[in-house]
Amino acid sequence: MEPMIARSHPSHSSRSISGVRIVRADSAHKAPLRAVPPPERTVPMNGHYRAYRPRPFTREERDRVTILFGGLHWRAERLIQGAMENLGYRTQVLPPASRADLLAGRELADIGQCCPTSFTTGNLANFLRAQVARIGAEEVTKNYLYITAGSCGACRFGQYHESYELALRNLGLESFRVFLLDQANLDQGAQEGGGLELNMPFTLGAIWAVVLADLVQDLEYRTRPYEVNAGDTERATREAVERLYDAFRRRPVLRGKWSAALWYLATGYFVRAMREVKRIYDRVEVDRTRVKPVVKITGEFYLQTVEGDPNYNIHRWLEAEGAEVYPAAVTIWLDYLLRLAAQEFEDRIGVDRRARLKLAAARTGQRLLRWTYARMRRALADVPHELPEQAELRALAAPYYHSRLSGGEGDMLVGKALWAYHGKKAHMTCELSPYACMPNTMSIGAMAAVLGRYPDLLYAPIEIKGDAEVHALSRCQMILTEAKKRAQREFEEVLERTGLTPERLREAVAARPELARATTRVPHYGVAGTAANLALHVAGARR
Ligand code: SF4
Repeated sequence: MEPMIARSHPSHSSRSISGVRIVRADSAHKAPLRAVPPPERTVPMNGHYRAYRPRPFTREERDRVTILFGGLHWRAERLIQGAMENLGYRTQVLPPASRADLLAGRELADIGQCCPTSFTTGNLANFLRAQVARIGAEEVTKNYLYITAGSCGACRFGQYHESYELALRNLGLESFRVFLLDQANLDQGAQEGGGLELNMPFTLGAIWAVVLADLVQDLEYRTRPYEVNAGDTERATREAVERLYDAFRRRPVLRGKWSAALWYLATGYFVRAMREVKRIYDRVEVDRTRVKPVVKITGEFYLQTVEGDPNYNIHRWLEAEGAEVYPAAVTIWLDYLLRLAAQEFEDRIGVDRRARLKLAAARTGQRLLRWTYARMRRALADVPHELPEQAELRALAAPYYHSRLSGGEGDMLVGKALWAYHGKKAHMTCELSPYACMPNTMSIGAMAAVLGRYPDLLYAPIEIKGDAEVHALSRCQMILTEAKKRAQREFEEVLERTGLTPERLREAVAARPELARATTRVPHYGVAGTAANLALHVAGARR
């Protein structure tokens, strides 16, 4: 048989693998080595290296300069927008990153950078390009600035701002301003010029926005696969997010560091807003007797968080293939950062006199974050998933990945896969690995040892580089087929144990109308599937 190759990137409208055209190798189109010449540098590199430093942003500019940001899922972005508007900033969320952004990122910055860097750099660059075409470069540098999270490493995340700087230079927008929100510093105070204050009211607003958005996202993904009327979940989510956006925008103006912290922790303002979200979701009717595999999403932070081209739209693709998606909460990442800080202080006990104090502060911060998540979750009747314990994740990952190795998700990626497997939280794990990511390459290596020990752990690591969608989805589909069989088997075993049949289960559910509401919690009884847990719930109530 003649060797054959598959087209490497199908059109976006064709998402089915069976629709991929097969092309004979000898008739395949020969692409030129490089279709687009690299951009010329606008600043000659003949001086010493200087770290990027934005021009000051003054208070007087606040009313006319729009702050751009993005890189999370749309619910979190919308709520952060509300929190920032409450503080008097003009804001705009960047459009969702697309494949065109990936290509622009590769052209304008370092071609060897990890794919999330290319997506985010290209996303900003393409937005600015469109604005330059509309109002000119000078107006763009005057009227916009960009704010993003940053850190000192240990991966390329510590160099994102360098990528932005290079792309901006290549666009001829050297004086465009990019500000970094240091993820390890909750209170950076006013930035040069005083226009941007990365202080406690700002940071707490962003954290609360992330926590609330995560819970809404989780509720949405637990509901949509079972909705009786198609589109109800989408409508409820849009309404809920707008309601919360409004709550953030209208919250009392908070200026002081401690008064802001106290207000967030002590008042019931956001609990009441979340109860309204519950009332919106009360109207969504569900049928949880449908048997579906639960797929836990893990992987690199950016790829597991966004929904769209950067991860081949994997969330919606999995749902279309008949799965229930267990999304990755950003709050777990915040919890992990606090755990990393606590570990570091723990290691310095005996060397640094204030280490114990700092350790206590980090642990208190962790407790308060988890308490807030649990408090808001309760307002949604505890339907969204709980947060896994960081200590448990660390212990599970310890035989395979050192807990002091940071960068990317560190040992958490391994810990989460094992947590889902041992605790029967999901039937399979889909792990999103970025092209050219060093920490992720290490995690994948560690996962090989995990799979050697637990060969029946269903694990689909898919490499994301923007142009291998068919390969990635087909790999995921193979494991998903196994997960579907496992979910069905589990359901049948539960029926046998409980003496129920599918018909009797449906009758029992119909006799309890509250079970058809999206906001009725079905507890976890040690099996992964929603239908299997429902059967155990109904059987328990009948005894
Ligand atoms: S974890 Fe990997 S993909 Fe993410 S920023 Fe770091 S190097 Fe890039």
